[in-house]
Amino acid sequence: MILPLASGVFAPVAPGDRPAFWAVTGRLGGHSTGDYSQANISQNVGDDPGSVSRNLEELAGLVQIQGRNLALMQPIHGKSIGPVAQPGTVPGVDSLVSDQFDLGLVAMGADCVPLILYGSRGNEKPVIGAVHCGWKGLVAGVVTATITELRLQGAREIRSVVGPAICGSCYSVAPDRRESVRTSTPADVSVAALSVSGGIDVRAGVLAQLARESVSSIVVGECTFENPETLFSYRKNRKTGRQGIIITMRENQE
Ligand SMILES: [Zn+2]
Repeated sequence: MILPLASGVFAPVAPGDRPAFWAVTGRLGGHSTGDYSQANISQNVGDDPGSVSRNLEELAGLVQIQGRNLALMQPIHGKSIGPVAQPGTVPGVDSLVSDQFDLGLVAMGADCVPLILYGSRGNEKPVIGAVHCGWKGLVAGVVTATITELRLQGAREIRSVVGPAICGSCYSVAPDRRESVRTSTPADVSVAALSVSGGIDVRAGVLAQLARESVSSIVVGECTFENPETLFSYRKNRKTGRQGIIITMRENQE
């Protein structure tokens, strides 16, 4: 069984809220072997499809839904949002938003930041989201765009869980990338993301974007690059799997 790094529940705060269940995964406890050992949840990295299917089934099981009820994305490092009403893989988006019951929204990463969002709407059931954000996503503003979308759909109070990602010290980049972050994001975001000399701390930037929007956050997981036993890191291994994060609202909460 996939061993989650952490799991939890967004408890109701408004009359119409339903709880949402979430889990964050790393490498441990799945069925993949070799470079993808053990809990790889991506079908697009060269792993054995049967092993990945079993891992996805167990990922769904962490929030007590069926594997056939997962909504996945094929991210392109942009800020497009896929409004999803049914399971399947949405190409060309880095963000999924839904208010459907029993649909598991999944974001993956192996250095990039996977995160989920829960938007309380008062008298109506919540709207939830899952986002994939690397340095390009930070520059494009995919997290802020998703928060805007949740608010357009009525979200009043938004909470988040942010999964494991590479830290700024381990993610040294060419100067032009840092310059892109500096010129494309608000000062508090770029200060957070560029706090380490020569690097980009994408997760710190994401947390600053969440804080700017008054979104509370729980942070799960250490630096992916520094923890090869427990986390996948693309920068470290290239041929490797993906960990992830899942959120769902269940029709039957028991
Ligand atoms: Zn690090």
